[in-house]
Amino acid sequence: MKGAASLFSRFDIASDSGFRYSVFSMDLVQVYIARDSMEAHFLRGVLAEEGIAATVMGENLATARGRLPMTPDTLPSVWVAHDEAPRASQIVEGFVATSRDADAGNAPAASKAKWTCPTCGELVEPQFTDCWNCQTPRPE
Ligand SMILES: [Zn+2]
Repeated sequence: MKGAASLFSRFDIASDSGFRYSVFSMDLVQVYIARDSMEAHFLRGVLAEEGIAATVMGENLATARGRLPMTPDTLPSVWVAHDEAPRASQIVEGFVATSRDADAGNAPAASKAKWTCPTCGELVEPQFTDCWNCQTPRPE
């Protein structure tokens, strides 16, 4: 397995842990590098809600190996099984977009939520700015 071999070399820094050996024996794919453990675990929860089992790795490297700098190799990262990677990537993209909106001070929850047409009562998908049923503009 080519992918597993590359993972192994990437993370052989943690290979004194038998657990990490067993994790790396699976064909996992990194889908996200988090800013911190909290973000990594939050994303893992998001993926779990979609039925994707994700693993957070590297969150203990910085504390266990204090001499390591905080680089993408030592930041917590989120990994999923190879088969789930395409679907997970889409979820991560949405997650990242939402985070960026939040960072920019926008209101992602409001802009991404379905809305109810005040005229006909239809539940309208967030990407529509007008009601698909009666063309009433989305209320502010
Ligand atoms: Zn309507």
